[in-house]
Amino acid sequence: MTKERYGGIDLFKFFAAILVITIHTGPLLSYNSRADFLLTSLAARIAVPFFFMASGYFFFHKIKNEQGNQTKLLRQFLQRTGILYAICILIYLPVNAYAGHLTGAWNLPILIKSLLFGGTFYHLWYLPALMIGVAIVYGLRSFLREPYVIIVTLLLYLAALLGDNYYSLAAENQALQNMVQHVYGIMDSTRNGIFFAPLFIALGSLEANRRKPKRSALHSYILLFGISMAVLFLEGLLLQRSFAGTAIAPFNDMYAALVPAVFFLFLILLAGRGREHKWPRRLSTWIYVLHPAVIVGVRGIAKLTGLEAILIEDSLVHFASVVILSVAVSLLGIKILDVYKKERTSPLPRGKERAWAEISIANLLHNVRQLQSLLPRSTALTAVVKANAYGHGSVEIAKELQKADIHSFAVASVDEGVALRRSGLKGEILILGFTPTHRLDDVRRYKLVQTVVSAADAERLQEFGKPLRVHIKIDTGLHRLGEPYSNTEGILSMYRHSRLHVAGTFSHLAAADSLEADDLAFTRLQFERFQHTVSQIRAAGLKTGRLHLLNSSGILNYYDAGMQLDGVRSGIALYGLLSKETDRVRADIDLRPVMSLKANVTRVQRIHAGEPAGYNRSFLAERDTSIATLSIGYADGIPRELPEKGGSVLIRGRRARILATITMDQMLVDVTGIPGVQQGDTVTLLGRDGNDEITAGEIAEWTGTITNELLSTVGARVTRIYQ
Ligand SMILES: *Cc1c(COP(=O)(O)O)cnc(C)c1O
Repeated sequence: MTKERYGGIDLFKFFAAILVITIHTGPLLSYNSRADFLLTSLAARIAVPFFFMASGYFFFHKIKNEQGNQTKLLRQFLQRTGILYAICILIYLPVNAYAGHLTGAWNLPILIKSLLFGGTFYHLWYLPALMIGVAIVYGLRSFLREPYVIIVTLLLYLAALLGDNYYSLAAENQALQNMVQHVYGIMDSTRNGIFFAPLFIALGSLEANRRKPKRSALHSYILLFGISMAVLFLEGLLLQRSFAGTAIAPFNDMYAALVPAVFFLFLILLAGRGREHKWPRRLSTWIYVLHPAVIVGVRGIAKLTGLEAILIEDSLVHFASVVILSVAVSLLGIKILDVYKKERTSPLPRGKERAWAEISIANLLHNVRQLQSLLPRSTALTAVVKANAYGHGSVEIAKELQKADIHSFAVASVDEGVALRRSGLKGEILILGFTPTHRLDDVRRYKLVQTVVSAADAERLQEFGKPLRVHIKIDTGLHRLGEPYSNTEGILSMYRHSRLHVAGTFSHLAAADSLEADDLAFTRLQFERFQHTVSQIRAAGLKTGRLHLLNSSGILNYYDAGMQLDGVRSGIALYGLLSKETDRVRADIDLRPVMSLKANVTRVQRIHAGEPAGYNRSFLAERDTSIATLSIGYADGIPRELPEKGGSVLIRGRRARILATITMDQMLVDVTGIPGVQQGDTVTLLGRDGNDEITAGEIAEWTGTITNELLSTVGARVTRIYQ
């Protein structure tokens, strides 16, 4: 359930893309050439190997988790990168033409060389290098063990150094020099997918197959990274000196110390984890691809406006304008792509092709205000959003409530809590149910609050060994969860565990929805038991945290009975309903149903008297009958017993009786006497159409259930439309 997070890597990808811009713009050039050398020829060189390592890591992470279809993953990866590369080649075609690169001698070998190694524009070499590098490492891994893969790719890298910054070494030995020259005959440099990329990709794969580095090791990684960077600077300065006085210009692309530097940097980022950052990650690719075009663009603008003195000659301004423009163009590109994708994947009317639930946020907020009007200011309203917010969509509902200043939520399970937190929800999320020990790490990671369901459960949670934030549940008579109110010693023990941080204490009413005298008395009794328990806890010098007792019907029936305490937990009333239509409540408030359920007429036909319809001929026409087929069935949450119970739907503002057995995806209704019904008509199964309305309470009444069940079983394939 829990996805791993790579916040550090996400953020650094963005930073690395900016480093690549520094390489191509030289921000310090017009100020101090030595500083520029240190920045662009040394420090910034970690960026591209970092990209290789990150790509290798994620690719081989996927491979590891997908035992069966590994070659398919490779093919997909190559295909995707290939498509991106093809698009980039096209984008840079005009730039190439403008720069005059397309003139001159052309033949097939040159073209192949340019496509495989050169990348057709100076920065694009990265994409073919990534494809070739991943393919090489994938191939090596299929017949070599991990350490040997590293050794082979390391040898390739060392060979690459001879064709780059260590060329002077090669130049001392005729055989080596011949070899390097030979390689140069095939490819213009050794900075490519064969020599340069595989080592970093292999290192990424190495990490992908190990346990994630521990946070506690962070300090040592930082130290090792620092040392590696120092060595890199030293190496760079020495190498620069070695080129001085020779006829060869320094290459500045590859250093031996880049390997440990990038490796330890990657470990730091992995160990640091942190939240996922989608934007920096997406932006980094765009910036990487587009910034050379932006550089050309900035030069063009400078020329046109005559601002060359500032925009070009001041290297820092030049750099800044390229960065800003690259980010802006990339953001724009991402936005356009998103809109385009959305349009392609969801034709209008969106989500209304089959069966959908319209969720009225206005009604939700209205209900919140109505409930709050019954509560003292000091009583917090906890929104119960379990079971996908009673079928309304927990993430969307919780987000809307958060905007309306609700900061406390309750769910049934750890997964429900994780989903909310991962959607970015802030505030307290209380798990009302039991959580098995192996999921307690998620309770901590996602800052959820766990209900302690008994004294024995408190011991289990204590033994888990790590601090947990909890609410303690007291059983005052429902006999579902909670330590029995009568077991004082057991209850007190729950508050004494060193690792349980008790933020609240609560109980749940058994008969709050009834106004019968004995039920009223039982509720009173539950409240008194709760109060008594609380006073005992306090008398023992222990802290209860926030106290809460009432659910929706409790709020509506006991708003004036002093039972509101520090908080109340509302589910069904938030969604505008009482559990039963026949329920009467004491509070005089106006609740408005939040969900309407709709579907389409997909076919209309007329059958003759005596003809059957439906499975098992469950309907037999007594007279000629017009039948409409609807695009909704029991898998969408329509109770199968509705036909026998006289259930109906609304079409064109009129009631149409349900016929025959309800099937998984479809149902039949009688539209005899409703003029003009046709394919595409909207059908209302729940909610208002014209002057008539079918309420959840009404359906629940027909089928002998409660609205809570009806709403929470609305199927997953029913689209939720928020309005
Ligand atoms: C579901 C639940 C609620 C909410 O009940 P409603 O009647 O829908 O308001 C409150 N407390 C607990 C413990 C629950 O399980």
